[in-house]
This record gives sequence, C-alpha cells and structure tokens, in this order.
Amino acid sequence: VTGPAIELARRSRECYLLGWMPGTAGNLSVRTEQDVLITPSGVSKGDLDSTDPVLVDVQTSLPHSEGTRRPSAETCLHTALYRITGCSAVVHVHSPYATAASAQGANEGSLSFTGYELIKGFGLHNPDELVVPVLSNWTAVRRIAQDLETRLRHDGTGPPVLLIAGHGATAWGANLRQALDRVECLEALCQLALLTGSRSAPVAPTVDSIGTGAQP
Ligand SMILES: [Zn+2]
Repeated sequence: VTGPAIELARRSRECYLLGWMPGTAGNLSVRTEQDVLITPSGVSKGDLDSTDPVLVDVQTSLPHSEGTRRPSAETCLHTALYRITGCSAVVHVHSPYATAASAQGANEGSLSFTGYELIKGFGLHNPDELVVPVLSNWTAVRRIAQDLETRLRHDGTGPPVLLIAGHGATAWGANLRQALDRVECLEALCQLALLTGSRSAPVAPTVDSIGTGAQP
C-alpha cells in the first residue's frame, strides 16, 4: 500500500496547507486492494509520511493490526460511505466556510444552493440546484455514521458531499483527486454564499437576447 499511502500523505498536506485541517483535524482515506487505508488519529495532517496511514476493515472499521498509529476517530464515517456508495476515496475536512455554513442548515437537515456556476462541479443531473444533507454533530461519531447511513439509503443518489453541523464537510469519489475537487467546490460555494449573504445566485433570463436573430 506504499503508493496509496504516499498519495494520502501528500493530499493531506495539501488540505492542511489550505487551512482545512486545523490542529490534528480532518481525515482522508482510499480503497486499496487490501481494504481501506486511512490517515491516523491525533497527528498533524501537514506532517504525514507513507508509514502513517492505517489499514482498516471496511465492515468493522477496526485496524488490521496493532501498530504505533491509531486510525482516525472518524473512521466509521468513511467505512459507511464505502459500503453504501461504492466510492474509492473519502475526504473529511474542517474547512472554515463549509463549517460556518453548515450551522445554517442544522435545523432543516439540509442546505440548498441554486444558480451558482460551481454547482456544475458536482456532476448532478440538475446543475441548477444542489441540496447538501446536514447531519447533526453527535458526540458519538458512531451515531453520526448511523444517521449518514440512514440518510444516504433513504435519499438514494444524492450529491457526493455532506455537511456535519458546526463540524465540517465530507466528499467522496472515484479517487482522491475527485473527492478533493468536490470538497473544494463545496467550500467555495459556502464561501460565496456567506460573502453574498445568499445561497441563491441571480439567474440569467432563459431567453437569450444576444445574437438570437438576424437584424433587419
Ligand atoms: Zn471531523
């Protein structure tokens, strides 16, 4: 698992330098031939090397062997996503704008964004609206993972991102690059919404008045 471990360390450092993993927060994982490889608990994500990630069981979330590193405390969120969505990479960050925006959706259980060009970054059938699930931030991470599982199984094919209220953002995809792109789009979208004070961007009129007909 050296290749995936090196990529995990490198991508973690990218997220750390973006200010999305303050202290020792945040965690990244990938599906490997062996199982799920995840960043360790209680270590700065700016300083990881290829020996730090921990191999865990996708069903039980437990590590394959007792090593010096413990797997992330939020491992069960990752393994739930692998089991439910069949994705190959998961990124969980405590990025500031997504975390700030998540508090606004705490009561309704979701945040809706409309009209922003960035919504196209999620590859949805309807790129005009993005509805992001917002989960409650229970003290027991297991309970968040249970809510996540219930929510995703109920919603079916929602967007490949979610928020945990007052906590952070999670995205998943076919590889780490894609999951990172998605969390990056979500963070930028939340930043725009907070800067403009609106999660709905103005939409251009449907009839294009420019260049639509020969002048007499
Ligand atoms: Zn977290």
